Amino acid sequence: MTQYFEIEQRDGAARIGRLLLSPELRTPCILSTEELGKLESPCPIVDAGSFWGVKSDAELKARVKQIREKAGNGTLIILPHQAYPPAIPAESLGKVEKFTAPNGEKAEGPTGSLLRVGGKPEKTDLYVMEGAGTLENNARRFIETLIELKSHILPDTALYAPNLALPENIAMLVYLGIDILDDTRAEIAAYSDIYMTAAGSFYLDSLTEFPCRCRVCAESTPAELRKLPKLERAKFLSAHNRDALEAELSLVRERIRAGTLREYVEGQCRVRPWLTALLRLGDFEYSYLEERVPAFRQNQLLADTSEALSRIEVARFARRIQERYTPPELEILVLFPCAAKKPYSISQSHQKFILSLGKYRKFVHEVILTSPLGIVPRELELTYPASHYDTAVTGHWDEEEKAWVSGCLEAYLSKYRYKAVVAHVEGAYREICERVASNLNIEIIYTGTGSLVSMEALSNLKNTVESICASESFSEKSLNAEEEKKNFLRAIAEYQFGEDAALLFSEKVGKLGVKGRFPKYQLFAGKKQLATLVPQYGMLALSLEGAELMLKSGKYLVAIDDFLPRGSILAPGVTQADPGIRPNDEVIVLGKNALCVGRAMMNGEEMVKSSRGVAVDVRHIKKI
Ligand SMILES: [Zn+2]
Repeated sequence: MTQYFEIEQRDGAARIGRLLLSPELRTPCILSTEELGKLESPCPIVDAGSFWGVKSDAELKARVKQIREKAGNGTLIILPHQAYPPAIPAESLGKVEKFTAPNGEKAEGPTGSLLRVGGKPEKTDLYVMEGAGTLENNARRFIETLIELKSHILPDTALYAPNLALPENIAMLVYLGIDILDDTRAEIAAYSDIYMTAAGSFYLDSLTEFPCRCRVCAESTPAELRKLPKLERAKFLSAHNRDALEAELSLVRERIRAGTLREYVEGQCRVRPWLTALLRLGDFEYSYLEERVPAFRQNQLLADTSEALSRIEVARFARRIQERYTPPELEILVLFPCAAKKPYSISQSHQKFILSLGKYRKFVHEVILTSPLGIVPRELELTYPASHYDTAVTGHWDEEEKAWVSGCLEAYLSKYRYKAVVAHVEGAYREICERVASNLNIEIIYTGTGSLVSMEALSNLKNTVESICASESFSEKSLNAEEEKKNFLRAIAEYQFGEDAALLFSEKVGKLGVKGRFPKYQLFAGKKQLATLVPQYGMLALSLEGAELMLKSGKYLVAIDDFLPRGSILAPGVTQADPGIRPNDEVIVLGKNALCVGRAMMNGEEMVKSSRGVAVDVRHIKKI
């Protein structure tokens, strides 16, 4: 448990926090490497330096004590260490591998320690990623090391990757969960006549103009700078480089606040191949990011790159449809293409489709094909990110998109069989359907006629469905208006809570009914309201009655001590939490004295392991 680091905002693995030192240090931040070694500096972090040359544990302890006395309790001391390149195996490190105070006592006040793969972390507030600088350009080693180290340290500790930051890579490093960086590389670059920007580094010799308007750049030109003596040039470049780091970091912090860091790194990573590799490997590792990515976001999801297909939000949506969603018992499936306007059903094209289906609509189940989400059952068209993504539309689909969407459709149709599948699609959508039909050896009826919204195509769609309904084998399974609304809410509940959503629809409390106009549906059992659909992100908010029903599942449950919450629940009050909880998930809170519902502000593991920060934003509280 740390006392000196608090996370205030998260965007996936990236976070904004503060180290409670004097002065307080906001993270993510860039440390001045030079100041780290000095006791009298404005930076509240001091590096106690290397073990080398120290003869005994007592001598080490005395050194730390001396620093603490001089620097005071508001300064974080990075405990003495020996830094090795991470490639050296632990066995060959010798005995003075880490700092341990005699008798196992912990150094007082805020501390940091060096962290190496395979090493046992000491309990400190900050960890220094050993040899981080040597991992540049080695995306696989970097991500493996990062994930390994993160799995051994508490979530509310800060991670410092020294000797690595450049304006071009800050966004990616923070995106992956690094809290603290330094200016080592920027300083070295300055003394090597290298001018740094977020779009990459330039040799001063090659520059005609400065692509920056910082204080120093605004007053000079590359030609003028080249005439100065070496030391003056270095000072100039150092000031600019440092400024470039800080400017990029400000942008990254703003992106975290806005919840759009992913979109930024999808573009920014193109500056260097290893950064692009980091983006892809991060998605490939899935669980590291998935545990940290919120259940929904308030902002739009921009899917403009090929990596958007593997983005956690997209992959999670597809997985949940495959694992959690069950379609209504209808015999006809109609496949539609997506529409730019969201939710799809309010788009002009979908309005026409719906109108043409007319009275036959109650017999069909509608599923929408789309890139990058794959397939979206009509019931989930409001659910994040189905109603929140925007993508570049060219009419051309690349092979990855086709493969991804047909994979999603094929997985779905392998699991659920219909008596008839109608596809009102054209172009790449039709190609996708044909591929799936051939792979699964099923028949798909196509109703497009070169256009999807022409009178001909629309009546084709209607007539096709009509004739299926008229066929002998058709059993006339349908959903009336009331059942359709219930089915809508059930699909969302399953998406959100998994199979235990059935507890909400058990009719034990009373007859189920849905009130309200689309999309502001409210689920009732008799006179008791169980849940409300929140149209902004297409998920359910539970009432206390709904929470009581869901209790049995034990999922999305946060256990607290025997206090009566007033407002938010802080992490230290949490005794247990479902590890499946993600930030922004709807959660049920249960203690000896209270039952509450609210929204998770961190994931389940963080709630249990953190000693600071808001765990749940509570909406309703009931004393018990
Ligand atoms: Zn500048």
